[in-house]
Amino acid sequence: MDHLQEIMAGATVIRLSVGPLSTNCYLVQSGRDLMLVDPGLVLNRELIEVVTLVEETKGKLRWIVCTHGHVDHVSGADAILRQFPDAVFAMDPREAAIARDPSASFAMQLRSPFVLQAVPSPLAAGQEIAIGTITYRVATIPGHTAASTVLIASDHAFVGDTLFAGSIGRTSDPVSCELLVAGIRSTLLSLPADTRLFPGHGIPTTVGQELATNPWF
Ligand SMILES: [Zn+2]
Repeated sequence: MDHLQEIMAGATVIRLSVGPLSTNCYLVQSGRDLMLVDPGLVLNRELIEVVTLVEETKGKLRWIVCTHGHVDHVSGADAILRQFPDAVFAMDPREAAIARDPSASFAMQLRSPFVLQAVPSPLAAGQEIAIGTITYRVATIPGHTAASTVLIASDHAFVGDTLFAGSIGRTSDPVSCELLVAGIRSTLLSLPADTRLFPGHGIPTTVGQELATNPWF
């Protein structure tokens, strides 16, 4: 599994590409605290890789957060939670409902047997997630899904499938598309230009780069 590491203010971000759709799963370390974002793991070797990475940090996995309920972002959540039962597994309840519905999560369409078993702690806009020395602000951007979650720190953000480098997340109708574009504008593109954005697929980008080059904005 290939992974890249970036040093941000107060945190190290490791990006792992997992599953058949090359989903970005992020392991974030601040001090001795760790957070895992979008555990879309499918294979046992992917699970072993994450467990090994966590063990190598000598830190403690505090949080497992899913940005939304699509199978490629959630499929490893139950297995990770079994390995780290003390971690808090959190996602928006509307997204957890998607992860329990094989049609809505696209598990059925992708011929995956996945149905979320764990009951996550509810995550809501305005909430804060603290690990080590940094705090993530939770915000919601509807459009790709009903309640896609983004996590915003001082110099970076995890944006799930809302925004990609040069593109935006898939939507099912024009109203959702308008909602998504408006939400990205107000919640993400209003951040400082050098804010690093870590999307659910593909390479990281920045607010300034998207304002300058993304055809949607
Ligand atoms: Zn998605």
